[in-house]
Amino acid sequence: MSICPKGKTSKARRDKRKAQSWKIPTLSLVPCSKCGMLMQAHRVCRSCGTYNKKEVIKIAE
Ligand SMILES: [Zn+2]
Repeated sequence: MSICPKGKTSKARRDKRKAQSWKIPTLSLVPCSKCGMLMQAHRVCRSCGTYNKKEVIKIAE
C-alpha cells in the first residue's frame, strides 16, 4: 500500500509552489560563537576556522 493523493493539485496550486523557490535565500548568516563575525550557518567560520566551538581548519595569519 502506498499513499494516494485524494485530489488533483490544480495547475495554479502546483505552479504557486514552484514560484516560491526563487525568493528563498539559502544563505543564512549568524554571528560566530568564537569570534563574533558573521558566518554562514552550519558552515565552518571563515575568519577563525571554527565549527561547533572546535577548531576545524587552520587559518594562516
Ligand atoms: Zn569565527
